[in-house]
Amino acid sequence: MFNKILVANRGEIALRVIRAAREMGVGSVAVHSTADSDAMHVRMADESVCIGPPSATDSYLSVPAIISACEITGAEAIHPGYGFLSENANFVQIVQDHGLTFIGPTAEHIRVMGDKITAKDTMKALGVPCVPGSDGGVPTLAEAKRIGDEIGYPVIIKATAGGGGRGMKVAETAKDMESAFLTARAEGKSNFGNDEVYIEKYLQSPRHIEIQVFGDGKGRAVHLGERDCSLQRRHQKVFEEAPGPSITPELRAKIGKVCADAVAKIDYAGAGTIEFLFENNEFYFIEMNTRLQVEHPVTEAIFGVDLVREQIRVASGLPMSFQQDDLHINGHAIEVRINAEKLPNFAPSPGRISQYHAPGGLGVRMDSALYDGYSIPPYYDSLIGKLIVHGRDRPEALARLNRALGELIVDGVHTTVPLFHELLQDPDVNSGEYNIHWLEKWLLTHLNG
Ligand code: ADP
Repeated sequence: MFNKILVANRGEIALRVIRAAREMGVGSVAVHSTADSDAMHVRMADESVCIGPPSATDSYLSVPAIISACEITGAEAIHPGYGFLSENANFVQIVQDHGLTFIGPTAEHIRVMGDKITAKDTMKALGVPCVPGSDGGVPTLAEAKRIGDEIGYPVIIKATAGGGGRGMKVAETAKDMESAFLTARAEGKSNFGNDEVYIEKYLQSPRHIEIQVFGDGKGRAVHLGERDCSLQRRHQKVFEEAPGPSITPELRAKIGKVCADAVAKIDYAGAGTIEFLFENNEFYFIEMNTRLQVEHPVTEAIFGVDLVREQIRVASGLPMSFQQDDLHINGHAIEVRINAEKLPNFAPSPGRISQYHAPGGLGVRMDSALYDGYSIPPYYDSLIGKLIVHGRDRPEALARLNRALGELIVDGVHTTVPLFHELLQDPDVNSGEYNIHWLEKWLLTHLNG
């Protein structure tokens, strides 16, 4: 086991990793920008190193600064959290070249899955069902139009390098193809430096179902069921639950096995998530995330495992501490993402927290780096906390979420908490009947009054 690891992240996910390390008797090093000198992750870690000015490009994304921080402190491994450098294959290579360990999969696996076209080709070859669409990249508008006619509208044009909901455009009919194709290409180019795009059938009312997998890097892998993350705004998740209200034990066992077998076959190491759209009882692969997800705690709650501990174990060369037969679902868990944003437009709302009180009690977990008097800097993501509840069944989890949201106090900035109070009153949310378009439609008639 490592003596000391460095956490190349900030906010709640940095705390998450520091906490796991401490329970394992592993030392932790926080890195921070000058804007984060007073941040909770800096206070909670055993040691900290300032790695640059506020701009993420010059701090949390600065590879030389992070490698130097390892060398100064003697940290042997780097946990990247999510976002920032977590899916950067070049970074992983540099980490290894310096004799350090990256807590995550290999650079090669990250590279393959980071390009959506090669990811889809790879998954298809491994027997994973995919959304019907173009065979690889689509270089010209004429070709795009031909494929649109062939698979039938509506279609979605996606940048192969896209992520975070960017670089995707829907063409409802052939008339929209030109603008959708050119916009997706331009967004791919400007956001990700790659203008290659591909085309998929646009599914009308799917749910977003993702399978958590975990591999030991030596041909063994398990799945930890699914999460339903269909409640999305601008393709970004806001509310996640496990198990999925629409997934039967038979469906779970079947798709879970397909996913676990696929990652076992490629010797995948660590945590990964295989994302699907789910419509008419069929799964369609859309992408794989080669890292810990924001919403991993709902899976931890129902399976009673610590995924970060497991990541650190496997990266240090130890075997996985569970096998498929050890993994059983217990109850239901829900996570809501609390952002410092002002409703109804979700405008960022940084500023000083005058009062913070976290909810508690049975089945409640609050992952947050907030504290009284903390100032949320304007430079980073607006996620300020994740409230996760666990109950014996879905109705109990919903009641607990309602209760816990009522206890939470975040004064001084605007937050998305009122959104969840309203959502919990909705019959569809209570019955679990929603798809990936549900929230966008709901927002058109809610919050504004
Ligand atoms: P990103 O990498 O930007 O997150 P994804 O490929 O994971 O992009 O897609 C994000 C979301 O976009 C999905 O959860 C879904 O809501 C929507 N989406 C993606 N592909 C399709 C499709 N073929 N049909 C309908 N919706 C889609």
